Amino acid sequence: MVEHLYIHIPFCPHICPYCAFYKESAGKERVESFLDALLIEASRYRSLLSVRTIFLGGGTPSALSFTQMERLLSGLHEILDLSHLEEWSIEMNPATVATDKAKLLYQAGVNRISMGVQSWNDELLKTLGRTHSAQKAEESFDLLREVGFKNISVDLIFGIPGQSLSLWEKTLKKTIDLAPEHLSAYGLTYEEGTPFFHLLKHGVMKPNEHLEADQFQLAFELLENAGYKHYEISNYAQEKFESKHNMAYWLGANYLGLGPSAFSTVEGLRWRNIADTLLYISSTQAGETTHDFQEELSEATLAAERAAFGLRTHYGIDFQEAEPWRDAMEKMEKENLLYRKDNRWLLTPRGRLLADSVSEIFF
Ligand code: SF4
Repeated sequence: MVEHLYIHIPFCPHICPYCAFYKESAGKERVESFLDALLIEASRYRSLLSVRTIFLGGGTPSALSFTQMERLLSGLHEILDLSHLEEWSIEMNPATVATDKAKLLYQAGVNRISMGVQSWNDELLKTLGRTHSAQKAEESFDLLREVGFKNISVDLIFGIPGQSLSLWEKTLKKTIDLAPEHLSAYGLTYEEGTPFFHLLKHGVMKPNEHLEADQFQLAFELLENAGYKHYEISNYAQEKFESKHNMAYWLGANYLGLGPSAFSTVEGLRWRNIADTLLYISSTQAGETTHDFQEELSEATLAAERAAFGLRTHYGIDFQEAEPWRDAMEKMEKENLLYRKDNRWLLTPRGRLLADSVSEIFF
C-alpha cells in the first residue's frame, strides 16, 4: 500500500522569476477541467492507497477559488479512505489566504499549512518578484491561527541579492517571534530556464557563497537557540512537528504523485506524469496513461537514494546501510565532513554546509 500522496496543482496567478517548478497561469475553464482530470486520476489509484499524509503543492494550490477548492476537497473525501490520515498539508501563498478558504480547509481536515513567506523585507520580496508584502504575510499568518491551524510552516529564502547578514537576521528573528511550528530555509538557486538563471549567466546577478554560508550558519544558531531542531539540511521544527510527508520521501517510503509533472515511486518503480496540463487533462479523460517517463530502480539505486537523503537528516544513516561507501565515508570523516555516533554516520557542521557535495559519493 502507498501511504503518502502528493497532489500537484499547477496554477499560479503570478510567476516568480526564480521558480523552476511546473506551473502556469490559467483561466477558470482550464482549472475546472484539470480538477475533473485530477479526481479521475485519484480514482484510478484508490485501491493502492491507505493514506497517512497528503501534500497539496504546486504551483499555488491556495489560489484555487472557494468553489474550486470545495470541489477538490469533497472529491478527495469521496474517493479516498482518509480514516488513517495523520497529516494533510497545503502550500499557501500569503497573497491568496482568505478567511472563507482557510475555514473550508480546516473543516475538511487539512491540518498543516506551508506558507511561502520567503522574507519579511518588502524590498527583497520585490527582488524575488513576489506579489505579497511582509504585512500581508503577517496578516495571513494571524488569520490562519485564528481559524485554528496549529501546525504552520514558514518558508524563507536566503542568498537573495541585496540581502545582508543583518537583514537575514531580522527575517529569522521576526519568524521566531511569530513562533511557527516549522520553518524551511532554502538558499536561492538559479535554475536553468528561469529569468534569474538568465541574469546570472549575463553577470547581472552574482551569488555570494561566503555570505550564504554565513546565513546558513546564522539560521542554524538562531533557530536551534529558539528551540527548533535542525532535522534536515533545509528544515527546522519544534518537537513533534517534523513534516511526516517529507520525512517519508527522505527515508525512502513509497509515494504517489497526482497531477502534471508529479513523480511517484512505488515498490522500485518510478514514473513521472507529463508536465503539460492540457495533455494531462486529455490523457486522463481518454483513459490513457499520463506517464511520460518510467524506470525500474535497482536495489542499489534505492539504497543510494536512501543513504543520500538519510544523511541530510538528523538521523543520519546506520553503518550497515553505509557499508558500500565505507572507504569514502572514512575519508570524509578525516576531512571533518562526517562523524560517528551510536553506530550511525552524521554530518558535522562543516558537512552540513557542503551537504550536496557529500551526497555525491552515493551516486
Ligand atoms: S508562487 Fe510558488 S510555484 Fe508559483 S511561480 Fe512563485 S515560487 Fe513558483
